[in-house]
Amino acid sequence: MPSEYKPRDLYASPLNPDRCKASVPYGGRSVSFHQCQRAPWKDGWCKQHHPDTEAERRKQSEERYQQKRTLSPLSQLTRAYDEIARQKRLVGELTEVLDAILDAQIANWFSYTKLPGKIEDAEVEAQKLVDRAYALLARHQKETDDAEA
Ligand SMILES: [Zn+2]
Repeated sequence: MPSEYKPRDLYASPLNPDRCKASVPYGGRSVSFHQCQRAPWKDGWCKQHHPDTEAERRKQSEERYQQKRTLSPLSQLTRAYDEIARQKRLVGELTEVLDAILDAQIANWFSYTKLPGKIEDAEVEAQKLVDRAYALLARHQKETDDAEA
């Protein structure tokens, strides 16, 4: 938001209603301000100092900054790192499930040879593990889709 020019004392130029009402700094090392000398365009502001123009300029600048940040090598490396970490987590989780499935198969085999009454229990357990494996894969797929969206 641009600031409006206000004469700071009796020696400062009074506000000229035929000029843009923005307060602009003098060039160089001066810290004093004067009234913008451009002709008013809308609401007493020139085109450059109108709040709408300044908001639009800030928005475009922010977009350029974000775009530059997204494409920066550091940002790309960070995304690659996150993706690899995610894949490693999935492999770890799947390995756990596969080990459990293997254990269940061995238990099933023992049940079959020694304790026939336990076969159904072992199958129910094995099915739970298979469901867990597919749920993991589905979650991974969803994370991948979300990351790409
Ligand atoms: Zn102006």
